[in-house]
Amino acid sequence: MAAELSFNQEIANMMYATHGNPISHCLQCGTCSGTCPAADFMDYTPRAIIGMIRENFKDEVLASNTYWSCASCYHCTVRCPAGIDIADMMYALKRYSMWKSRFKEGLIGPDFSEAFVKMIVNSGKSFEPILATTYLPRFSAADMVQEALTATGLVLKGKIPLLPKRIKRLKKFQRMVKRIIPLGELS
Ligand code: SF4
Ligand code: SF4
Repeated sequence: MAAELSFNQEIANMMYATHGNPISHCLQCGTCSGTCPAADFMDYTPRAIIGMIRENFKDEVLASNTYWSCASCYHCTVRCPAGIDIADMMYALKRYSMWKSRFKEGLIGPDFSEAFVKMIVNSGKSFEPILATTYLPRFSAADMVQEALTATGLVLKGKIPLLPKRIKRLKKFQRMVKRIIPLGELS
């Protein structure tokens, strides 16, 4: 029987397609944390989360909001002296977290990601009004009214369509996507 992979090996596998070095190359210099515009909103800084992955602190890493707070700006990636693609590591953590259904309660990120993937798989196109519904339960009444007014204005100006559209050759697109990711219950 194959030996069970450690958490840091699993995350390394999730990062197989990145162009960066493995996180074992991390110097713990903190440049990523110092350059990260979202660090103040994170439970643990990027530097800390890398140290925790290396030490296999799986429960703590998955329960943190750090990777869901990442804005994918890639500042950390371009400045890392060890050549680690930290932004892609954050994506790897998101994918792993969705795959295992383990994430911090109350975050928008997991719901938003699932809604986005479902929409793309089912239509091949992004449609903002559907994505916006992911946020509605978190809005106050005043925010909802404001959002509705903004959306109405955008529709009237033709900036967003009134109804979702589908791409041509959708079945072919879905077959292609299925070869890349397991769609499971999404389609
Ligand atoms: S910038 Fe690179 S080497 Fe420095 S702590 Fe972050 S990941 Fe590690
Ligand atoms: S890509 Fe994410 S982790 Fe890196 S600096 Fe930007 S927000 Fe921070």
